[in-house]
Amino acid sequence: MDGESLFRDVVDKYSRHINPQLAKLMSFAGFGVEVRAEGCMIYDHEGRGFIDCLGGYGTFILGHRHPAVVQAVKDQLDQIALSGKAFFSAPAADLAARLAEVTPDGLEYSFFNNSGAEAVEAALKFARSSTGRTKFVSTYGSYHGKTMGALSVTGREKYQKPFAPLLDGVTFVPFGDFDALSAALDTETAAFIVEPVQGEGGIIVPPDGYLQHAREATAKVGALLIADEVQSGLGRTGRNFAVEWEGVSPDLMCLAKGMGGGVMPLGATIGTAQIFNRVFGTNPIAHSSTFGGNPLACAAGLAGLNVLIEQNLASRSECYGTYMMSKFEAIAAKYPEMISEVRGRGLMIGLEFSMDEVGELVVAQFMKRGVCVAYALNNPRVLRFEPPLIIEQEQIDHVCTALDESLAETTELLADLV
Ligand SMILES: *Cc1c(COP(=O)(O)O)cnc(C)c1O
Repeated sequence: MDGESLFRDVVDKYSRHINPQLAKLMSFAGFGVEVRAEGCMIYDHEGRGFIDCLGGYGTFILGHRHPAVVQAVKDQLDQIALSGKAFFSAPAADLAARLAEVTPDGLEYSFFNNSGAEAVEAALKFARSSTGRTKFVSTYGSYHGKTMGALSVTGREKYQKPFAPLLDGVTFVPFGDFDALSAALDTETAAFIVEPVQGEGGIIVPPDGYLQHAREATAKVGALLIADEVQSGLGRTGRNFAVEWEGVSPDLMCLAKGMGGGVMPLGATIGTAQIFNRVFGTNPIAHSSTFGGNPLACAAGLAGLNVLIEQNLASRSECYGTYMMSKFEAIAAKYPEMISEVRGRGLMIGLEFSMDEVGELVVAQFMKRGVCVAYALNNPRVLRFEPPLIIEQEQIDHVCTALDESLAETTELLADLV
């Protein structure tokens, strides 16, 4: 099938059998069919290459199809792919042990699942069962996933409303507000769940000391601190885990997205020995998952984690993040009416527009110039840039040139409109 026929066939099937509204939205935005990917690049049905700055919402820490991860999965595939579930599984054991070494102090046990939402579900259940309390505190603008429990602590009404009623006893506080957090916590709170840097909320870095405050304030009332590092973890912000910016050890940490090395779906809920003993003490299968911790995913996860640590990609993220952000700031200064802020940490960068609907136009301009970007789910005014941490300086420079040209052309388009 030639490229154009493939495109029409896929969009037609999406319209008739997947999601017609989504098909319309994506074709309108100019997205083609992804056919192949490698490193920082995705290639579409016309053979056009795009630098992947969306990166599967931050999944491609190591880029697409990192050779070490692909090899580990191929080797595993020749042995055993999915678990029979009656036997011990070596890849899960090896990955859990490695995670205990690299995660913050006290986090010793891993429960493996298949996605971010599942990692959050498990964390919420573990918090309830280990504390014997039911209430949760979360933050406005947060994104924790779309299953019922995860959605209940996601701070965006638009996603919650059609599915109400959700979990009872969830209170939302403004992200970064010390006093509001203290006031919301009490001795009935099971946990405070927070992203160390809000992703879908629009790449929002909290004020210094916020995570430490969260650590102290939760401990004071005997509540748990759940760090949702699904997007911010694994080197993304310039530290292996974003809580490390403040030297904070949470009680539970959620990982997914990049956890499977950019090759397999994999999530993990990592916690202290005390929590796991309480949750599983009387029933070792109090929480379980058929595919969670499967050999293929864990082999990918371990290979990916080893690359991350051995190549010190977190510091590469910090260094290139600083470089990219300073170039962005210089460009943004040329378009003061259009851009209100550039912010972020490491290679987790947000560009905020001062008007609605400009984001969509700029995304289309970027696509035209071979750069794939998108706006944040909870905040359409913010374009987020989360390229693979292996991105090269020339590729960053290409993205910056594309930004400058995209803003210039969008400015012209808007001027023509008025
Ligand atoms: C994406 C995301 C989730 C949900 O992950 P899924 O794999 O899409 O279910 C949860 N928390 C954060 C911080 C995320 O960015």
